[in-house]
Amino acid sequence: MSVPFLDLAAGLEELGGEVDAAFARVRDSGRYILGPEVEAFEREFAKYCGARHCVGVANGFDAIQLLLRAAGVGSGDEVLVPAYTAVATWMAVSAVGAVPVGVDVDARTWTLDPGRLEEAIGARTKAILPVHLFGLPADMGAIAQVAARHRLLVFEDAAQAHGAHYQGRTVGSLGRAAAFSFYPTKNLGALGDGGAVVTDDEEIADNVRLLHTYGWRARSDSEIKGLNSRLDELQAALLRVKLARLDDWNERRRRIANRYREALGDASEIALPFVPEWAEPVWHLFVISAEDPQAVRSRLERRGIGTLVHYDPLPHLTPAYRADGWSEGMFRVAEDLASRALSLPMHPQLSAEACGEVVAALLAS
Ligand SMILES: *Cc1c(COP(=O)(O)O)cnc(C)c1O
Repeated sequence: MSVPFLDLAAGLEELGGEVDAAFARVRDSGRYILGPEVEAFEREFAKYCGARHCVGVANGFDAIQLLLRAAGVGSGDEVLVPAYTAVATWMAVSAVGAVPVGVDVDARTWTLDPGRLEEAIGARTKAILPVHLFGLPADMGAIAQVAARHRLLVFEDAAQAHGAHYQGRTVGSLGRAAAFSFYPTKNLGALGDGGAVVTDDEEIADNVRLLHTYGWRARSDSEIKGLNSRLDELQAALLRVKLARLDDWNERRRRIANRYREALGDASEIALPFVPEWAEPVWHLFVISAEDPQAVRSRLERRGIGTLVHYDPLPHLTPAYRADGWSEGMFRVAEDLASRALSLPMHPQLSAEACGEVVAALLAS
């Protein structure tokens, strides 16, 4: 039995006629941009996150850059970002003319280490942008304390954590504003690109709304210089169908994670993800740690099991950021974790049987 790393088509198949109905509704409406589906989705997703506002945008990268711009972060500012994340986090900071300043991560949670923040804070530091990595919320309470001492803004890169909880509170409502991605592989994924900014802050929401369509409040009357970054009606209609399933699908991810954790607890060759007591993760990815991840990867590959590595290279070791002076050895913990990381198949439609195959392959050394 082969086990692909992901099976996005299986998810859509499960939704069946609902997706077709949603698409037909948009097709027949004659409204394709900024219409009732986007409005409804924004309302529903804000409510889901426990926040007052949601603005749909074109992708997760834009969600980050628009929330930064909307909050007044730009040229000359520094934004603290975790060393362990997708390059998009760093690059969205660069896109607004600000400088991403890496901070090492905690060896157990892999998320931004609040204890390393202070040494990275300087006169130009304006904000902290933690990432809820692999679906596990960052330690937002500890981060907020440091931020308060230094009067810094705290945002969330929640692209991997739709529906996760930190101390009982939903991700997306834990900082001044949060960025979500609806890239197809995310826990809430579109049939293409999509993203959203979620916030309680009226002014940020209003600014994002202006910025995402040429600075228009009234059509053609640009109040400020913006860009074009909109969630479209088709994607919004699909996302509404999937949002209704999000908790169920996250629960299925949780069951798979529990299966992996129970079955692999004694495997000597690998270490399993750690879940702190304050977090309820949503298992966007299930990342194990292995002494020789390439060997494990090849072994699984021979049995038809797909795995991926997140992330190689880390953002600071890409040519794009090496050019800014970042190099090996700057983030010892993140680099060490990255050298051992291997992502196992994880998605809501992964069967118990497929999960068993992965476990058997890992235990057979
Ligand atoms: C996916 C992702 C993004 C970017 O989202 P896109 O929709 O692909 O632009 C940003 N940050 C993190 C942590 C992500 O995983």
